[in-house]
Amino acid sequence: MQKIRKSDEEWRAVLTPDQYAVARKKATERAFTGKYVESHEPGIYRCVCCGNPVFASASKYDSGSGWPSFTAPAGQESVETHSDGSHFMQRTEVVCARCDAHLTAQAPKACAIASTPARSTSRNRTRSD
Ligand SMILES: [Zn+2]
Repeated sequence: MQKIRKSDEEWRAVLTPDQYAVARKKATERAFTGKYVESHEPGIYRCVCCGNPVFASASKYDSGSGWPSFTAPAGQESVETHSDGSHFMQRTEVVCARCDAHLTAQAPKACAIASTPARSTSRNRTRSD
């Protein structure tokens, strides 16, 4: 997969301040404030930065944590995981395989969403190749 590399300035220009903070700076949304926590709409969650399909709504489950949670990525090459041993507990960070956007950290209360669902019926449907 072709990697997308942009500077902080370039990302800041295309993202909202909240998206930028979560996706590029690994800020964590406050629990139960995310747009998609209660969403059960079918579709594909795409990386907010590059449009890469990262999670399918079919794998979304109610974790009770206040953050959207998924049991599996949309595809094998959708996401990459990075181990983060710098904290007292081992965390696995999930990032977009294409642009390294922070998607979730699979640790207690450290899960942030940086994706937007794209409805299959959307007229703005984009093809990914
Ligand atoms: Zn991405």
